[in-house]
Amino acid sequence: MVEEHRLPDELATGPDGPYWTGLAEGRLLMPRCKDCGQWHWPSVYRCACGSFEQGWEEVPPRGEIYTWTRTFHKIQGMDEIRHPFASVVVKLDPAGAHLMGMLELESEDTAVAIGDRVLGRFDWVEAKRGTIPVIVWIQESASPVE
Ligand SMILES: [Zn+2]
Repeated sequence: MVEEHRLPDELATGPDGPYWTGLAEGRLLMPRCKDCGQWHWPSVYRCACGSFEQGWEEVPPRGEIYTWTRTFHKIQGMDEIRHPFASVVVKLDPAGAHLMGMLELESEDTAVAIGDRVLGRFDWVEAKRGTIPVIVWIQESASPVE
């Protein structure tokens, strides 16, 4: 349950604070220039157009796999992660930004390909700095999220 977790202060107050605060609330927020409309990731203080007017907009956790790699071995300190899994870079639909994340796989044989459509599920994982919110990606063809 989202209500059981508390976002670490250093994430909530950093330059990407709205991103982390959004994840903690089950929303994906991405930075966008208020003057020219350019999406950014990571966030920037000043857009290439020269504007300092940067805002955050909610976008659906949906996109396609830009690139990926599969992990079969256990990683020390990450015992909670279900294996096998794939590390992915997801190109978000509206924002076009590339987000790194984890793709849940149903089995070692689950086919993964660049361009596969994915949906994000909001979750929390144990990390060195405490419990942090994450998006776990799932192939649209594998499991309906909504
Ligand atoms: Zn701009």
